[in-house]
Amino acid sequence: MAETTDVVIVGGGAIGASIAYFLRDRPSPPDVTVVELDPSYALASTPRASGGVRRLFSLPENIQLSDFSIGFFERFAETMAVDGSPAEIGYRRGGYLFIVPDKAAALLEANAAVQRRLGVKVDLLDRTGLSERFPSMFVDDLAIGAHSTEDGWLDPHGVLQGFRRKASSLGARFVADEVTGLDRTGQRVRRVRLASGRELRTDWVVNAAGAWAGEICAMIGMPAPIRPMRRYEHYFECAEAIEPLPYVKDLDRLAFRPEGRGYTGGLPNSDEPRGFNFEVDNDYFGRVVWPALAHRFPAFERTRERNVMAGLYDQNELDGNAIIGPWTGTCDNFLLAAGFSGHGLMHAPGTGRAIAELICDGGYQSIDLTRLGWSRVARNEPCPERGIL
Ligand SMILES: Cc1cc2nc3c(=O)[nH]c(=O)nc-3n(C[C@H](O)[C@H](O)[C@H](O)COP(=O)(O)OP(=O)(O)OC[C@H]3O[C@@H](n4cnc5c(N)ncnc54)[C@H](O)[C@@H]3O)c2cc1C
Repeated sequence: MAETTDVVIVGGGAIGASIAYFLRDRPSPPDVTVVELDPSYALASTPRASGGVRRLFSLPENIQLSDFSIGFFERFAETMAVDGSPAEIGYRRGGYLFIVPDKAAALLEANAAVQRRLGVKVDLLDRTGLSERFPSMFVDDLAIGAHSTEDGWLDPHGVLQGFRRKASSLGARFVADEVTGLDRTGQRVRRVRLASGRELRTDWVVNAAGAWAGEICAMIGMPAPIRPMRRYEHYFECAEAIEPLPYVKDLDRLAFRPEGRGYTGGLPNSDEPRGFNFEVDNDYFGRVVWPALAHRFPAFERTRERNVMAGLYDQNELDGNAIIGPWTGTCDNFLLAAGFSGHGLMHAPGTGRAIAELICDGGYQSIDLTRLGWSRVARNEPCPERGIL
């Protein structure tokens, strides 16, 4: 006998747990079952993330998703409290800094104009301004920087556990099992099959399986361009003390921020062969990250890598942006919330609210994410970020 539930969410990482929370927080909430194959989250992307949250995007949809989500993170401890116990996520408003050379200066300025129109506080700094604010930075080959002082970083695992605990307290069921099959009749998925032999009859299936989302899509023949892409997160220390830094990113994808006594970050390789690969190349830091770091901040000439972890991006090969919403026209009750390509943690609250609106209200009520939907994939019309990714 199949059990019945209104919504099945595949994957209980930051995205799945957020969706479960926003659904159950409704006045008349649907019955929600989250299927998560590994409740220890040993290989999930969320706990391996760097924790950066920023409004510095070019697409209005991404800026709006961040704006809602960062405001939500600032109140997370209280909003997600259960039985009076706050859900601490260590949010730190340390700021973000994007730095570019001449060739990308106009783009950075154009992006800042869009951000400001949407209410983002961003300072544009020329070379002198950069030097004054960040004296340890080498600026001779830079033209301009965008410093958003109200962005920052947080503890990704805390976010996941906070959403999960709150969603559970509101009645969402988290099931430790693996989704192995989806049964589709006509334009609807009717049944979700689990490795244990259990079957769930349902009205909605939400694919929040992160780097594994492409495999879930394949179960009903949906050709989603989402592939796992390995990325390292390094923890390193600097021999010399320097001024407090924000989360720094450049055009070549160097990205790092302060963490404890040191720093955490990396330099993703876009040409990384796709696949579920968690092996660590112990030379990568010295070969790729350190030269970029020491060039930009000469104080890092003497640095030591203390730790490294490999994690997976749920890379959307079409345009590097999330795919949010139903498989329109083909299977209307199968919703995708994946393909975040490195931005999923910071967009988890906004995505949770958006999916809840699609299911409970029949359409977007707050941020119109139609452009991030499946149609652009079907039409092969990329909707990419411009400038720093
Ligand atoms: C090194 C690194 C640094 C990053 N830095 C940032 C950052 O600074 N800021 C940011 O916003 N994002 C960052 N990201 C991206 C971010 O981690 C992801 O976009 C986000 O965590 C995705 O969340 P998720 O819930 O979709 O995926 P996950 O956390 O991976 O959750 C998906 C879950 O689905 C489960 N699952 C898979 N298949 C099945 C199945 N068949 N049945 C049941 N369950 C299944 C998995 O076990 C997993 O727990 C980074 C990623 C990496 C790797």
